[in-house]
Amino acid sequence: MLQLAEIFYSVQGEGAHAGTPAVFVRLAGCNLNCRFCDTDYSLKFFAHADEVVARVRELGGACPMVVLTGGEPTMQPDIGPLIDALRADGRRVHIESNGVIALDLPNDVWLTISPKERLHPAQAARANEAKLIVDERVPLEWIERFAPGTPIFLQPEGNKPKNVVLAYDAVKAHPARLRLSLQTHKFIGVR
Ligand code: SF4
Repeated sequence: MLQLAEIFYSVQGEGAHAGTPAVFVRLAGCNLNCRFCDTDYSLKFFAHADEVVARVRELGGACPMVVLTGGEPTMQPDIGPLIDALRADGRRVHIESNGVIALDLPNDVWLTISPKERLHPAQAARANEAKLIVDERVPLEWIERFAPGTPIFLQPEGNKPKNVVLAYDAVKAHPARLRLSLQTHKFIGVR
């Protein structure tokens, strides 16, 4: 049984897939307590994996991309069956994780790691992209934890001007390694 906060259909606003329509499945609960967190990941309902797939179909139709986010999706004991059920339904599964918990994933699952306090080496090695949150400072210390070919995005917390300037300057200072990721969905007032 999965613990969920919400399921909705929108457009990915961040990272390498910005602009891509996706159904978002927000799992409830998190193993961290970041001071800047503005996500409501409190438990709203329970569902089996096949019920989540049915809701994804209902909201997103044939939309190929499904993002499992949170909270922290890897905390859910049934995350594996959910991934399998979505893949069996023909979906491309993306996971957004803080990287604390190691989780074996099929090769076709896209893993976004946004490290906050601790980072499991296996998750850093598996990451398809890294998203570093710029919150009054640029957390450059995470860069060397990721393989040289892993795209690393700096994302200004809350699109706040001070954080945008910090991120903008940092990507220009590290042009071969860093990219800027803005929360573009917030520009148009959607989730
Ligand atoms: S890891 Fe993410 S969801 Fe969890 S508290 Fe931190 S910002 Fe919020």
